[in-house]
Amino acid sequence: MDTFSPEKRSEIMRCVRSTDTTPEKRVRSLLHKFGFRFRLHRNDLPGKPDIVLPKHHTVVFVHGCFWHRHQGCPHATTPASRQEYWLPKFGRTVERDNKNQQLLGQKGWNVVVVWECETKDLSKLTEELLRIVAHDASLVWQRQSLSMAMAAEKQADYNTEKNSKVS
Ligand code: ZN
Repeated sequence: MDTFSPEKRSEIMRCVRSTDTTPEKRVRSLLHKFGFRFRLHRNDLPGKPDIVLPKHHTVVFVHGCFWHRHQGCPHATTPASRQEYWLPKFGRTVERDNKNQQLLGQKGWNVVVVWECETKDLSKLTEELLRIVAHDASLVWQRQSLSMAMAAEKQADYNTEKNSKVS
């Protein structure tokens, strides 16, 4: 269910410009636009999550579909040769991911996995990211982040460079 009115929604979507960059950067850039504060690659957390949102007790992993075996995804192919090499390797990666997510959950972190293929559809990704903090975000906070996104967008109109430095 959409938590925003159609007008707000289209404002948000206008905010979301397509970018030609890595999946993780796409996610970071969106989070930044929505006014999220985050830290990157915290070594002290299991699995070194790509993005950490301390205020929302949320960690985000941006996973490549091939290496991390996105189930049912066309990008999660298995090479035809040397399967004796690939299959155990894939198995270890998935096992490690599960273990890390379990440990993070035990420490009270909300774990979000964004798949690489999902970052290519910016509207879907936006929905996904807005849900990240759904478990503890108040309406007030959502409105605040929305208005911050709008302000950032307006600023970007006349000064893209300056906007990118806003933290
Ligand atoms: Zn995928």
